[in-house]
Formats: sequence, C-alpha cells, structure tokens
Amino acid sequence: MKNVLFIAPLAGGKGTQSDLLVEKYGYVHISTGDLLRNVNPESELRKEIEKIILSGALVPDEIVVNLLKDKLLTIKENEPFVLDGFPRNIEQAKKLEVLLKEINRTLDVVIYLDVPYEVSLKRTLGRLSCPKCKATYNKFFKPSKVDGICDKCGTTLVHRPEDNEETFNLRYETYLKETTPLIDYYKNLGKLVSVESNNVEDTFASVVSVAKND
Ligand SMILES: [Zn+2]
Repeated sequence: MKNVLFIAPLAGGKGTQSDLLVEKYGYVHISTGDLLRNVNPESELRKEIEKIILSGALVPDEIVVNLLKDKLLTIKENEPFVLDGFPRNIEQAKKLEVLLKEINRTLDVVIYLDVPYEVSLKRTLGRLSCPKCKATYNKFFKPSKVDGICDKCGTTLVHRPEDNEETFNLRYETYLKETTPLIDYYKNLGKLVSVESNNVEDTFASVVSVAKND
C-alpha cells in the first residue's frame, strides 16, 4: 500500500478514512496532534510546547517536524503510513519533503476528499456525541433512534458549542486560504488524486483503489 496524506475540509471524513486504513490494511496513523499530546510530560520539550500553546501561538514547524521524524523512524519500511494534520500549507509541505528525503521515505499519494460546502457544514452542525461511551451521531446523517439519547447507553447526547455556523465559516475560510495552494502544489507534483466523499463505504472503496500499489 502507498503512503498517504489526506486533505479534506472540516468534517470531510479524514479521521474515519484513516481509521479504516489502519483497521483493514495495517496502516500506521500519524497524527501530529497526537504526537504533540504524547510528548513525555516530564520533558523540557513538553514544557516548551505548553508555554507556546498557552501564549496562543502555534507550535513551530521545527518542533512538529522533529516529532514526525522520530515517529517515522519507528515505522518499518514495509509498513504504510497515513499522515494527519501535517502539512497544512506549502511551507510545511516543503519541510516534509526535506525530512522524507533525509530518512529515505516517500509520500506516495495525496488524497483530496472532495466534499461540497453544504455537506461539510451539515456534518459539522449535526454532530452529536455521547459524553459517557463516546459514541458519535449526526442529526442529519446518522441520527440516534430516540432524538438526543445515546442508542448504546441511554445518556443524553451533547453538541459541542464550537460546532456552530459562524465558527464553521471562519474555519472554512482559513481552510480554503491555506489548502487551495497546497492542493495545487501536490497537483503539480503529480501526487494529487481527488476522491468524492459521500457515504463512508463508497468513499473507502475509492480510497483503497487509489492507495493500492499498482
Ligand atoms: Zn453512550
């Protein structure tokens, strides 16, 4: 299987598709968010990261790239990986390229999950989750049997306050501004494949056909 990076708008299905690759094809999921969260709490690096986050700044690329490098070096050469959360812009994409060359790895294909704005919005606004068993639902696409109640454990479902239209639109604008050039960048490198993201199964079938070695 090929090494993959997903690019997708908010609620574009990146997480779900990555999980399926892990589950069905033995991919290693590399999420830079997780890497940052998992830094040893006793380390100097952790203190530095916490200071940066508290100040409201973004963690510098150099720190993320170093964590990424350590993680990639733990992966066996025949194990495919899927990248999540990095790169988000061209500058980071170039840094990733340098890193991969240095450790003799490649990013083989960039899969753009194509989701219309309206669907992305509805998926976000409809998102509900169970605070007890962590099951997830969607008011529009995957409702619980009884409105607002978890099917599995009967707990009242919660909706995250940040999943509102105003916040969504702000984040969507940022996404477009940063990601459109990134899409063009990978298109020029001949690595971009666009996949229509509709229901999970059909989308995954397309993803697998792209990610399989020829
Ligand atoms: Zn539940």
